[in-house]
Amino acid sequence: MTRNIKNYRTHDFYCLNCGKRNISVMRPRGFLRERGHRKAMYCPHCKLDVNHLECRNDEDAFNFKMDFEEGKYIQEAKESINFLMKERVENNE
Ligand SMILES: [Zn+2]
Repeated sequence: MTRNIKNYRTHDFYCLNCGKRNISVMRPRGFLRERGHRKAMYCPHCKLDVNHLECRNDEDAFNFKMDFEEGKYIQEAKESINFLMKERVENNE
């Protein structure tokens, strides 16, 4: 079975802590999710588990960068790091 690549788009994830781009995820075209979806993943720049913001296009990425520079995500990044660290300890990983 062949998957038509044209039916897929890449969505980028940006770290709320350092603002850098992390991995891109393939989503089926027309895949709809609320704007500003957060996903917890490991950031290779921060070397931490932290929430990331899903950006579907250049506009989303641009808006994220503006908000990030204004410090909009500082508190949220801290909270997500603390939360995910605690979770990791509790799971004994
Ligand atoms: Zn980071």
